[in-house]
Amino acid sequence: MTKARLLMLAAIIALIAAFFFFDLSRYFSLEYFKAQQAAINDFYTTNPLATAAIYFAIYVAVAGLSLPGAVPMTLVGGAIFGLLWGTVIISFASTLGATLAFLAARFVLRDSIQSRFGDKLAAINTGIAKDGPFYLFTLRLVPAFPFFVINLVMGLTPLRTWTFYWVSQLGMLAGTIVYVNAGTEIAKIESLRGILSPGLIISFTLLGVFPLIAKWIVNSIKARKVYTKWNKPASFDRNLVVIGAGSAGLVTAYIAAAVKAKVTLIEKHKMGGDCLNTGCVPSKALIRSAKFLSHARRCKEFGMKSASVDFDFAEVMERVQRVVTTVEPHDSTERYSNLGVECLTGEAKISSPWSVEVTGAGGTQTLTTRNIVIAAGARPFIPPIPGLQEINPLTSDTIWSLRRLPRRLAVLGGGPIGSELAQCFARFGSEVTQVEMLPRLLIREDPEISQMVMRRFEAEGIKVLVNHKAKQVLVENGQKFLVLENEGRESRIAFDELLCAVGRVANTSGYGLEELGIPVSKTRTVETNEFLQTVYPNIYACGDVAGPFQFTHTAAHQAWYAAVNALFGRIRKFKADYSVIPWATFTDPEVARVGLNEQDAREQGIAYEVTNYGIDDLDRAIADEEAHGVVKVLTVPGKDKILGATIVGEHAGDLLAEYVGAMRHGLGLNKILGTIHIYPTLAEANKYAAGAWKRAHQPEKLLRWAKRYHAWMRA
Ligand SMILES: Cc1cc2nc3c(=O)[nH]c(=O)nc-3n(C[C@H](O)[C@H](O)[C@H](O)COP(=O)(O)OP(=O)(O)OC[C@H]3O[C@@H](n4cnc5c(N)ncnc54)[C@H](O)[C@@H]3O)c2cc1C
Repeated sequence: MTKARLLMLAAIIALIAAFFFFDLSRYFSLEYFKAQQAAINDFYTTNPLATAAIYFAIYVAVAGLSLPGAVPMTLVGGAIFGLLWGTVIISFASTLGATLAFLAARFVLRDSIQSRFGDKLAAINTGIAKDGPFYLFTLRLVPAFPFFVINLVMGLTPLRTWTFYWVSQLGMLAGTIVYVNAGTEIAKIESLRGILSPGLIISFTLLGVFPLIAKWIVNSIKARKVYTKWNKPASFDRNLVVIGAGSAGLVTAYIAAAVKAKVTLIEKHKMGGDCLNTGCVPSKALIRSAKFLSHARRCKEFGMKSASVDFDFAEVMERVQRVVTTVEPHDSTERYSNLGVECLTGEAKISSPWSVEVTGAGGTQTLTTRNIVIAAGARPFIPPIPGLQEINPLTSDTIWSLRRLPRRLAVLGGGPIGSELAQCFARFGSEVTQVEMLPRLLIREDPEISQMVMRRFEAEGIKVLVNHKAKQVLVENGQKFLVLENEGRESRIAFDELLCAVGRVANTSGYGLEELGIPVSKTRTVETNEFLQTVYPNIYACGDVAGPFQFTHTAAHQAWYAAVNALFGRIRKFKADYSVIPWATFTDPEVARVGLNEQDAREQGIAYEVTNYGIDDLDRAIADEEAHGVVKVLTVPGKDKILGATIVGEHAGDLLAEYVGAMRHGLGLNKILGTIHIYPTLAEANKYAAGAWKRAHQPEKLLRWAKRYHAWMRA
């Protein structure tokens, strides 16, 4: 906490302590006022403005310091100023006092609370940003919530001060009028209890809940409104139609069939989608072959004199296809048909909220369905760089049909796909230049993590050009050039093939979204709510087409929510949970992450502590000649609670599973340290990272006592 905050906190505590020490509360009682009423009324008659000003100032101070006394003061206000002026003065004084308390809580505590509990408060913060005024209005009206608690708690949220002010003034008005009115007959009031009758309490509660109910009704009407221009069929052939048989669509259909729903899965191209055919599977197969070559080149490190590997690139690419073919049955029509899914080959188009047209070899048929899940995936993005389209660049869709190794390969993009493939092709012998306009590769990772990958790439002969923007592609005398700009200077590189890997864009056109008016978000994915519903509550989207992640495991994770919400949402709906999302980039060294890294934590204002364990120290890594990399763990300061972990090194993606499980189930570093890990394994790195954390948090005082105890035992 800063000095200014500490001073302010001390001042507030001193004022509150003085209030109780001098027993000032006796001046804020009905009895005291009744005894002094005649004198106060006399003063008011001769000095009305001064009375109002003094009263206003005292009220603001009481409310601002969260002192007890606001209720008797309101009654007194009614007694002195009458209903109209009493209400006006108290409404402004109470709101101003509340806002001061709100600002004090915000100034003194909010930053430390948000940075300490920011990860837990994220959902609350989002809720406040979206619906804060509604919540506050309800809290102000429902008499069960104490006035001063609301002021302090709201100060800790991101609610805007002006919003707090006006919603408070409006929300407190009804209650103020009731108390001021009661105060006009103060002589009849014996205690504070009887002022709010049970009937009034219920009315206030209903008034408070009303905005929430109204919002719910408006949302329901809106949801229904989108359907008005469509004719709903009297009955449906199916419970669910799924568009796209990639990772998201397959899992959706699988779950639907498992719970005995009638489900149809439509695929226009190949079952398995990108992951099987052009993504995870072929890329990992290619990476394996390239790694074999790198091991052969490193033969001296393993004690061999020499190793020569002869290979034909076309055969390597055929092997990649063999791997795809071997995995294919997992995603095949046969397998899914046996599971109870109706699989149709053809192009799907949503023709109404309850019908999908499928155009295949046998013509077009229309299916009626209660629910639709869009799982149409994404495709490589080709940026509008002059000359790029014309040279027909390679993408992650087309690179798998290459059978001749390009001599010079330019790779546009320093993200996971560009990096994995750049390293593969360099290992096969292409002269690879990788171009990235940002300052480093794998920009989502912390800088030193990116550096580890970049250093290895450069050591393997890849020319990495960061901070270089691709401006143009030129063909001169049959020679292709990529024109780059770096700090205002232009340069060009010659290439034979160019791989464009600058991101993937969701497939959102050509299958009915435009006609139905289903909106696309700023990130150009299908817009969904937290239940993965589009504007039509019976049409869902999941996987790459919905974002925000573009991984097979997140597509499958979302698919569960889409399927369950579509089929059982009338009974219970689940919000898609993105709290623990892991991923890996399968470069060498591999980079795997779950939760926060330093860059994220700083951006989100979350306090953290870092523990690093260098894998160069690990016995198994040394034995394997893979003694490099790091396990980097972020924890809550002073606690073993894991906020995130990044692992760089051999099999990082596999090693990370321990941290993913720990975060998912709320286990801290102490639990990882207390788990037996097989010796000698790479997985021990996780335990040693936990050990490094423990050493940094050892109980120094206790150890000093232990030292004395042992000395005493020796004496
Ligand atoms: C080179 C590369 C490597 C990758 N490596 C990994 C990795 O290691 N790990 C990882 O987790 N992720 C990886 N990914 C990402 C992963 O492949 C995707 O996140 C995943 O495939 C998304 O699945 P999906 O079901 O959302 O989309 P897709 O797999 O794209 O499936 C969508 C399907 O919908 C079909 N379709 C679209 N429109 C229609 C229509 N109108 N009618 C009928 N069918 C339609 C398409 O033909 C397609 O088959 C990689 C991607 C690439 C490109």
